[in-house]
Amino acid sequence: MIKVFAYNSNICYDGQNLKKNSDTINLALEEIKKVNFSENDINYVKKIGAKPPFKNGKEAYDFIKKSNIKVKFAPMPSNDTHAQWDIDENTIKINEIYKNNKNKAVILAISEAIIHEAGHAKDNDGESSIQEELNCLSLNAMAHRDYNRKYPDIYNSNTQESIVKNGVTLYSEAYFETNPYKLIKKVQKSYSHLPTGDVLHPASYLAYTIKYNHF
Ligand SMILES: [Zn+2]
Repeated sequence: MIKVFAYNSNICYDGQNLKKNSDTINLALEEIKKVNFSENDINYVKKIGAKPPFKNGKEAYDFIKKSNIKVKFAPMPSNDTHAQWDIDENTIKINEIYKNNKNKAVILAISEAIIHEAGHAKDNDGESSIQEELNCLSLNAMAHRDYNRKYPDIYNSNTQESIVKNGVTLYSEAYFETNPYKLIKKVQKSYSHLPTGDVLHPASYLAYTIKYNHF
């Protein structure tokens, strides 16, 4: 999603100046560096039709740094819009309702949102498609599983924040269910208005199913 909103200029991290900050966003960025996608997960998401833009969290983190992408909190249209990539500002924006939130599950969820948006930033075209979303969603879904392995029970701690409860947890579940029905329904709900694919993200069978088969 690419939109420019008025926001306060509370920059929590910028690519030049990582050391100065020690807040929620920096903690999330530190987690990204350590994310590993399991080989099984990578093979699985590829098999169902996604093409993950990064091999692991380190690659996403290095891309963010190399490209001088800023990550900061900003207002969003609703509590269920967790993050946005703003190409005009070269900035990944995170919903400001999580500002200074130190709940570990929220920090991890923010890091998943950052990985997702970095996937959008990689093609540098400011456009999206169902296939591009599938590719980027596979990143947060796989990162979520890595966190579940590393921090058992972290997402079971009655976290009520929407980015955890209605965001990253549901996408990871939908991605890795044996039956892709849940994933199709979920992606349809948010992204079926987008084109099926684009030049840089040729549509898979899954993307076509999401676009044209409404169950
Ligand atoms: Zn997206």
